[in-house]
Amino acid sequence: MGDANTTLSERGSDVLVGNYGRQPIALVRGEGCFLFDANDRRYLDLMGGIATIALGHSHPRVMAALQDQAQKLWHASNLYATEPQIQAAERIVTNSFAERVFFCNSGAEANEAALKLARRWHYDRGDRERNEIIAFAGGFHGRTLFTVTATGTPAYSEGFGPLVPGVHFADFGDIASVTSLLSERTAAILIEPVQGEGGVRPAPPGFLRELRRMADENGSLLIFDEIQTGIGRTGTLFAYEQHDAVPDVMTLAKALGNGIPIGAMCTTERYSKTLVPGTHGSTFGGNPLAAACANAVLAELTEGGLLAHAKQTGDWLDGEMDAMAKRLGNKIVDSRGIGHLRAIELPGPAADTVARCRDNGVLVILAGPNNIRLAPPLVITRDELAPGLEVLEEAIAG
Ligand code: PLP
Repeated sequence: MGDANTTLSERGSDVLVGNYGRQPIALVRGEGCFLFDANDRRYLDLMGGIATIALGHSHPRVMAALQDQAQKLWHASNLYATEPQIQAAERIVTNSFAERVFFCNSGAEANEAALKLARRWHYDRGDRERNEIIAFAGGFHGRTLFTVTATGTPAYSEGFGPLVPGVHFADFGDIASVTSLLSERTAAILIEPVQGEGGVRPAPPGFLRELRRMADENGSLLIFDEIQTGIGRTGTLFAYEQHDAVPDVMTLAKALGNGIPIGAMCTTERYSKTLVPGTHGSTFGGNPLAAACANAVLAELTEGGLLAHAKQTGDWLDGEMDAMAKRLGNKIVDSRGIGHLRAIELPGPAADTVARCRDNGVLVILAGPNNIRLAPPLVITRDELAPGLEVLEEAIAG
């Protein structure tokens, strides 16, 4: 660790709230799949800004969109139509089940909007007791009070009570536990197709389809949190496409703006109608700069060959991770994931392994204390990945 990194880290500790466990390097610039620290040391970015940098750093199309929009209009409020917001919504509508989009600034806000919509929809129909949410143990949905309440790891909400009433937790992958909670009071079921923060745990085959059936039968909304899985991360534009289960509401953020803050709550015309003027809003939601970036990201993913490239690389990565798991034997407990979202579970805490990777020029992150998570940019090539995987394997082998 060099002086420039230390200086920046120390200045940060002096003035920033200490709510993040920061790594001891400061990052200064990014190019494609590489990041550079304050000493100009290069790192392979296998975390993608926590599943956010889908197109790599400084992507020319996104940069051009941002710079072009910056010359025209930065902010106009949501009381007026602006072209970038409409274009980004049109792309989501064209490429998903959604018919209406509400833009906000983060994943938590997108989930907050989804949960509020579900409650309000039943309220508007006179079903005023129907306000309960079924979420899942191990799930993660954000840090606002409603979304942290719906986050299925108690440590995240400890000390912030009283929490939002009416949220219950089923076991991920266990239909019987959902059945035991489902009632005429259930407004919505909220689930991640792959639990990201909870350790990269994909929903078992058929589980989302069964939830769809149960939600329909019970008159509840089905909400898929695709904040981490969306925008191509699992090999299709949205993970639900692989599950034969279409949600009523889907939430997006993270990779949607390739690092520029934007979230989206995407739904059908039917459910969208409940959010009439005055019921919900956001000053910065769908801001022209952020929306222009989202529009560029969606264009890049849906118009060119990037999604096909990501699928191929993801399939290759699948084989590589399996082979690595075999070689590592009892040094690891499990290797999971799909596409560009992977975890290797170690028998104990993984923070030291993450540090060893960093010291050897590769950035990975935790997903729970024992899991090392990989969420590389979708543009990454096998040639870029291969040396990174070697570093990872050596770091785990110890
Ligand atoms: N939902 C999921 C699945 C996430 O992974 C995250 C962030 O990690 C969120 C919601 C919260 O998003 P944000 O941090 O943008 O509020």
